[in-house]
Amino acid sequence: MPAIRLGSALVDRVEEQTLPVSLRLLTDDDALLARRVSPLPDGFLGGRSRTFQFSNHSWVVRVDGLTVLVDPCTGNGRKGRGHFFDDLDVPYLEYLARTGVTVETVDVVFCTHLHHDHCGWNTRQVDGAWVPTFPNASYLFVDREYRRWDTANPDRHANEFNPNVFDECVRPVVDAGLARIVSAPYEVSPSLRVEPAPGHTTGHAMLSLASGGARAYFSGDVFHHPVQLTRPDLHLPGCDDLATAVETRQRLVRRALDEGAFLFPAHFPAPHYGRLAADGDEVYFVPGGAPFDDQESASGDAQGTEERGSRAT
Ligand SMILES: [Zn+2]
Repeated sequence: MPAIRLGSALVDRVEEQTLPVSLRLLTDDDALLARRVSPLPDGFLGGRSRTFQFSNHSWVVRVDGLTVLVDPCTGNGRKGRGHFFDDLDVPYLEYLARTGVTVETVDVVFCTHLHHDHCGWNTRQVDGAWVPTFPNASYLFVDREYRRWDTANPDRHANEFNPNVFDECVRPVVDAGLARIVSAPYEVSPSLRVEPAPGHTTGHAMLSLASGGARAYFSGDVFHHPVQLTRPDLHLPGCDDLATAVETRQRLVRRALDEGAFLFPAHFPAPHYGRLAADGDEVYFVPGGAPFDDQESASGDAQGTEERGSRAT
């Protein structure tokens, strides 16, 4: 995928892996799927199998002189993360390097939340110890999310599906003095803000970009699949607070629609990002960077014109 230009920002995707996930976990409403999902590329529906391609990837945003890595996936050599995630041996850092970014040149790491598939490459194993992967980065953690998982916090919300994650992926960063624990909203740079987007987890947040008239939201797991744009009540298992998650989805749908903003979710299948459009009362997903016939009517100006962002899938 070529890098995407949004105003003065450049956005690349770095893939870790892709998994088949049944849409039945989200909905049995075949009429809804036929109406809103079947027009999308194959990876969103999977034909008769109703299995979508759940992509695990990070976004790299370069703007305001900063290189920001959003949601660094699960990481290699983990244990206890589940069938598809344990003992990975994926050339993620080579894929990162193909975007022109090395571990030394990442300035900011932002985890939308602290599920294992969003903070794994925060650290990597060296001589048996988990150490920060990005030695020159500030790692941003939202305070509510940090406290929700902090193993030193007696009031943390235990979660059997996310074992050892805080101690392996967050604690070593804190111990190395690289963590910045912030309250959302938080301004990262003139173009980038961390904003609250709670529900999927208690302190889930997103990164918003406003550059040269273009707007985008790196929305983590606010949405796992575009069917949730139309039906915000649908969700995959593992949500901390469903009522709040639904409100967050509704709010972001309205905002992205009003602004003509792009969504860059953490798990959408190819082309992995897009905009929203309305059809009567329903909102649906328009994949990719040039969704409207009349480009003048859109406030963003994404152009996939850069060649250097190639990446293996
Ligand atoms: Zn996720």
